[in-house]
Amino acid sequence: MSGDNNVGESVAAPESGIQAPAAAVEEKEFPASYYRFCPDRSPAPTSETRIDGMKAILTRASQMWENGKTLTVGFIDVPGTARQQQKVKDTVKEWEKYANLKFQFVTNPALAIIRVSFRKNDGSWSVIGKGALSARIRKTEPTMNLGWVEDTDFTDPEESGTILHEFGHAIGYLHEHQSPRRGEKLKLIDKVVIDWTRRTQNPPWSEEQTRQNILDIYNVSEVSNFSACDLTSIMMYFMPAEFNVQHIEIKPNNVLSPLDKAFAFLNYPFPTGAASVDPSVNLVNALNTVGITGAVRASITTEWAEGDWQGVRAEFTRWSVNQKALNDKTAAVAEREELAASVPTASPIAIN
Ligand SMILES: [Zn+2]
Repeated sequence: MSGDNNVGESVAAPESGIQAPAAAVEEKEFPASYYRFCPDRSPAPTSETRIDGMKAILTRASQMWENGKTLTVGFIDVPGTARQQQKVKDTVKEWEKYANLKFQFVTNPALAIIRVSFRKNDGSWSVIGKGALSARIRKTEPTMNLGWVEDTDFTDPEESGTILHEFGHAIGYLHEHQSPRRGEKLKLIDKVVIDWTRRTQNPPWSEEQTRQNILDIYNVSEVSNFSACDLTSIMMYFMPAEFNVQHIEIKPNNVLSPLDKAFAFLNYPFPTGAASVDPSVNLVNALNTVGITGAVRASITTEWAEGDWQGVRAEFTRWSVNQKALNDKTAAVAEREELAASVPTASPIAIN
């Protein structure tokens, strides 16, 4: 599993039943990036994606591209300078190491699947996966905006972090802080988060926007696969410690975490004979990083050997859902035991 090198001060979990203080985030100096949140732009799932768990999961997985696909990328609208474009071209190579996908830059943006704009006052955002093909987005419109990537020679870590995050969306990744398993690590304090985003984002976020992009977690049936919430993921937002009951500060993540890389492989596996440029990128390492063992590991290995990429994703999804169920069960038992311990024991004096 991933380390927690990016996580700041971690304070012991609060005792259950104690209401979290809704203290506002202290006014202190934060890096500029703290004022920049990426709103998730995903064409709303259609009604047929919500019929039942498995179907919905597969439908959501269908937002991912087919394995081995070449995704064309063009610059549009505010197409940026050669230097801005070069930053994108250089940075996305990182994803190509871990996901069996290729980004091909084309000169005519109308022919590109991923259309990148550098609108200055439109923040950074991206459509998720195959949502880029939605008929609701005109070919003359961007599917991604990189408003914080500057026209300079040097790509600073925050810029490459932003590019990796938005291209993470473009290949189907969702926000990690909205993982169905977030609650195991972070309990967010709604009021504090809503106040902060209203105060700091430009333009200010409404409560609804904050709920959609930060507070709400994805339903298990809405996501394709997930692990325990990875606080070091490139898809995780930074968070001041005041945001959550556990008082964990999450610094901005600008590089792919070990889990980000493992997920890339399991969703877009390199086949035998077409390895990544990095020899450490392989099935065994991906399975070890995520911690998949036993029968599911065996089935994934078989599906992979047979070149059944949909099968690999489906098995991985099944594992994710089972892990969550196991964790929910453990949490429920612990809660029951805690409750039982707090109830005064019956009087030892029998009345008869
Ligand atoms: Zn995002």
